[in-house]
Amino acid sequence: MSSALDILAIAAHRDDVEQTCGGTLRKMAEHGHATGILDLTRGEMGTRGTAKEREAEANEAARILKVSWREALDIPDARVENTWENRLKVAAVLRKTRPRVVILPYWLGRHPDHYTASTLGYEACFLSGLAKLPLKGKPHRPFKIVYASLYHDVRPSFVVDITAQFEARLESIYAYKSQFTDQDAGREDFPAQAHIRERVAAMARFYGALAGVQYGEPFVQKEVDLVADLPAIPVKSI
Ligand SMILES: [Zn+2]
Repeated sequence: MSSALDILAIAAHRDDVEQTCGGTLRKMAEHGHATGILDLTRGEMGTRGTAKEREAEANEAARILKVSWREALDIPDARVENTWENRLKVAAVLRKTRPRVVILPYWLGRHPDHYTASTLGYEACFLSGLAKLPLKGKPHRPFKIVYASLYHDVRPSFVVDITAQFEARLESIYAYKSQFTDQDAGREDFPAQAHIRERVAAMARFYGALAGVQYGEPFVQKEVDLVADLPAIPVKSI
């Protein structure tokens, strides 16, 4: 790793980032920011595909999203736990990649790996800044943490306009061929391939409409925003 990342997205499973904030990552890369993805698990418990197949798919998705750094930790799939050991594993990555912004999953949801990854990621961001932490590398605490909230029905704090990145984001999801091509395994849980575009577009259209653009990705932040110039606020009221 030669230089620091501007933005690091952390998620439980390969393909989570693509589904929740892939358009945003691609847009930030187009703006010249260095972006990265840390997947906490390798997908060995998934109904479809092997961990090896998913690694190749994840690398292809990263290429499509113009992400410059991607790694997966060895935390067991379907057993993401907020332990000291796991917090240190994530903190080590934060010290290595030194992101200014970290994107975490939203802290509520259906899948335990997702909401646990949120708390685990937050606490690792805190620990990583402690000088006396028994961990090599220079202390680093991200300046900003935002939560990608697309998996959960919550009103976002803000939306990123991904209209121009929508097709690339869809392509990055299709890169997970082991997950999203039609097959018998997991038929109950996975949408038919023909329905994926409609589902992804409907969600993106909904969040885009909240902010007056075609397609958007939703985020929650815990802090209140600071406004310097009222006439420059981009979202219209009436
Ligand atoms: Zn997931």
